[in-house]
Amino acid sequence: MVTSRSVAALPQVEDRIAEAARRAGREPSEVRLVAVTKGHPLDVVEDAIAAGIQDLAENRVEALLHRVERYADASVRWHMVGHLQRRKAPQVRGQVHLLHSLDSLKLARRLERTAGEDEPLLSVLAQVNTSGEESKGGFEPEALVESVGEILECTSLRLHGLMTMAPLTDDEALLRATFGRLRALRDQLDRELPDYDGPELSMGMSNDYEIAIEEGSTMVRLGTALFGERNG
Ligand SMILES: *Cc1c(COP(=O)(O)O)cnc(C)c1O
Repeated sequence: MVTSRSVAALPQVEDRIAEAARRAGREPSEVRLVAVTKGHPLDVVEDAIAAGIQDLAENRVEALLHRVERYADASVRWHMVGHLQRRKAPQVRGQVHLLHSLDSLKLARRLERTAGEDEPLLSVLAQVNTSGEESKGGFEPEALVESVGEILECTSLRLHGLMTMAPLTDDEALLRATFGRLRALRDQLDRELPDYDGPELSMGMSNDYEIAIEEGSTMVRLGTALFGERNG
């Protein structure tokens, strides 16, 4: 297959994902590549789809909904990875394959309250602030069991696992600790909450995805590594 210039890095990225998985004794198929197209024009989206990428992501509701509609005929799944303002929350229902950024109980309750009766469940990941940085959103690890217990009571949501964002650093030990913590939290939820059924770990971006995979990531969210620098 001829790969367009905007996705020329795809084969190499796929190799690196597979190698990182094998280093950790995992199957490459256990890691899903989610291509983050935010800040890139539509021809990049089209090149990605033509290259066979099936999972695409945006971090703003407006761009997301626009692209969901525009590529409704393509068999791709759209993910929402950015902070979702509460007043815009209802708009993603029925539109996204997975909301990675459920980051507060207020947002969960808002999604629950605005769900129509016959609407399909909204698939979500709970975003956790495992790095402790103030700039990062998400649930606090210390209260996660309790918070997830409340999310599980929202019958219009289907919780598939956890998501985190690591600090922007080359400090490998710090990155491993951040990702390892998310994995440990998932395992704790598994042990302590009988209703918890959320194996997914969305972790790893262009700067750190190989380490994230070695630490158990099941979904890496890649923009720059695939498409180069963004304009927007
Ligand atoms: C932009 C973004 C990404 C992709 O970032 P890159 O460093 O370009 O790979 C991943 N996750 C979230 C939440 C983002 O906002």
